[in-house]
Order: sequence, then C-alpha cells, then structure tokens
Amino acid sequence: MSVVALVPAAGRGERLGGSVPKALVPVGGEPLLAYAVRGLHSSGCIDRVVVAAPPSHLDLMVDVLARAGVEAVLVAGGPSRTQSVRLALDAAGADATVVLVHDAARAFTPAEVIRAVVAAVEAGAQAVIPVLPVADTLKRVDPAGVVVDTPNRAELRIAQTPQGFAADVLRRAYAAYPEDSTTDDAGLVERLGVPVSTVPGHPNALKITTPFDLAIAEALLATCGPYVAFSATKGPHVASPGEPR
Ligand code: C5P
Repeated sequence: MSVVALVPAAGRGERLGGSVPKALVPVGGEPLLAYAVRGLHSSGCIDRVVVAAPPSHLDLMVDVLARAGVEAVLVAGGPSRTQSVRLALDAAGADATVVLVHDAARAFTPAEVIRAVVAAVEAGAQAVIPVLPVADTLKRVDPAGVVVDTPNRAELRIAQTPQGFAADVLRRAYAAYPEDSTTDDAGLVERLGVPVSTVPGHPNALKITTPFDLAIAEALLATCGPYVAFSATKGPHVASPGEPR
C-alpha cells in the first residue's frame, strides 16, 4: 500500500527558449525539478517519487536531486509526455495503490493541493484532479482562426497537477490506449468511462511554460518563498533494468 508520485520531467522546454530541459531551468538559483520533488515529499503523504528524465540529462538530474537532498528514482523518459509517464508508471512498483502524476513544471504546487488529491483517492475516488475556475472567456476556433463557438465559461475549469488515480485505474488506461498521446492523464482515464472528480487547485500551481511564467515564478519565490519544506532524505538513484522495485 504505497502512494507513488510520477514526475514527467523529460520535456525539452522549447517554449522557455533555453538550451536546457525545462525541469532544469533555475528559479531563485535552483532547478524547477528540485522544487517539484521536494514539494511532493513535503506534503507528507507520498511514499516514493519516480522522475522521468530526458535520457540525455539523466545523470545531471540525479546530481540535481542529490544536491537538493531529495529522494527519487530516476528513469529515462520518452519522446512524448505520455510516453514518459508510461515509463515512470512501469517503475512505480507493484505495491503502489495510489499513483499521482505531477508535472515538474508545476514546481510551486502547495502541499495542501497534493494532500487534497491523495485524500480524495484514499477516500474512494478513482481519479481526482485539481482545478481552477476560468477567468477569461474562451473561444473555440477553426484552423483559419475564425470563431466557431463560445463555450459557457461557468462549466470550464483549468486542470492542474498532481492528478491522482487508483493505481489499477491508471494502469488500465495506459494499457487500453498504448499508442495515444494526451496532455493529461485524466484524459485517458475519462476515455475508460471512469468518473474524474475535482478538488480546488491553486494559482501557485501554474505550469511554468513561457518566459512570462518564469518571471511569475521568480516573483512568487521572492514574495512568498517556496511552499515547500526541505526534507533530508537518502538521495536519488537510477533504476536499472530488472532491478526489483
Ligand atoms: O510540454 P509540456 O509543458 O506540456 O510538458 C508537461 C510536462 O511533461 C513537463 O513537466 C515536461 O517535462 C514533461 N514531458 C516529459 N516528456 C516529454 C515531454 C514533456 O516528461 N517527452
């Protein structure tokens, strides 16, 4: 009976315009990945963290996490987010009963959001995502950019991470759609017909994607400090093929 968090961190971060993977982009001098993994541990409800790293930067991510003093198992990620999550899920361990998927880019997610997701799954929900209301009016457009319709904003939500699942449900979704790509894991689970519940998200859990987001993250850190607490742990290791999990 374990709660395992998977952290897809194998993206290239092209929209941030840098030459390093997004998870290694520093905020306040420390890479996003360190904040994200530390934040998961500091919630106090995660037993294990599995990070999907870019194969080209696996060793560097091991060093980053070791220096940050946070424990994680690292696996090589895949060419898409979905593939990275799939590879991390393979390394989650047979004892995992609750699996969270948390973007490294949501480095400042408050611990209370993480705890709310885990609590909801432990209370019996099969899939849970944190959400925020939408402030802007959204438009659906065709390929030419012409507006097709205006969805009712009151029915829309911004989906954040961590997304939490009963482990067997997430495994079933990934087995059912082996070739599919999705921007979030709840999307795959929805297609199984499994209900996806929501808990309140938090603005600080923004996905740091563009230079503008990075500026927001720096400002958050300067004004609030990270939500996360430092927790001394054993440090990361790279899972080798065939290693008992
Ligand atoms: O590209 P995007 O911002 O949607 O990526 C969301 C998360 O998925 C990021 O944390 C990124 O590192 C991760 N990712 C991954 N493997 C990929 C592409 C993205 O783990 N091949």
